[in-house]
Amino acid sequence: VSTQAAEKTYVIGTDVTYAPFEFADKNNQYVGIDIDLMQAIAKAEGFKVDIKPLGFNAAVQALEANQIDGVIAGMQITPERQQKFAMSDPYYKTAVAMAVGQNSEVKSLKDLRGKRVALKTGTAAADYALSLKAKYGFTTVTFDDSNNMYQDVITGNSVACFDDKPVLQYAIATGLKLKLAGPESKASYYGFATQKDRSDHLDQRFNAGLKKVKADGTYAKIVAKYLGNGT
Ligand code: GLN
Repeated sequence: VSTQAAEKTYVIGTDVTYAPFEFADKNNQYVGIDIDLMQAIAKAEGFKVDIKPLGFNAAVQALEANQIDGVIAGMQITPERQQKFAMSDPYYKTAVAMAVGQNSEVKSLKDLRGKRVALKTGTAAADYALSLKAKYGFTTVTFDDSNNMYQDVITGNSVACFDDKPVLQYAIATGLKLKLAGPESKASYYGFATQKDRSDHLDQRFNAGLKKVKADGTYAKIVAKYLGNGT
């Protein structure tokens, strides 16, 4: 075996905008915690990645259809996803939260009765909200990306939306005209998803690389780069 052999390139799907995990920078390059982490793990494990910003639900569907090799997109490890995919070891702690307009009086789930709530297709946050829909009597509308979901609340078409707390916090801190309100789900964790039973064991390579980049300080540097040391 030649040591010059070309490294394998894996096609990795991600969301279009899910800062601080993935977003296009000023030069239209994809950056963020997920992107940098994926690159660092690829380097540590000797493979290459081709990052495709497909949108969250589209990326998950492309993975299911075997059109791509993996998804890194602020994607919660859930029992349902573990049935379908090989989910990596957890790499970031998260929770689902609710956001409302800056001048909104909505403070809890009870205030949603008879109102419209904006959700993002195929997300853990949407599942969380849908599990509360009957009890609290709200209606829902879905969007394919977070920005359009937020805009529906900002314009007042919907009174609230549900998304991941670190993503909402980052967006609000960088100027999104929403505020956090109401409940928060139990904590959960982000993981990288790939097909089960791959002969190249991409899930295990990701986990091995994750261990390395945590041990050598790269992981902490990536998180600090986007969130500062205090977060
Ligand atoms: N964290 C959510 C999930 O896992 C949404 C991810 C995303 O929108 N990129 O479903």
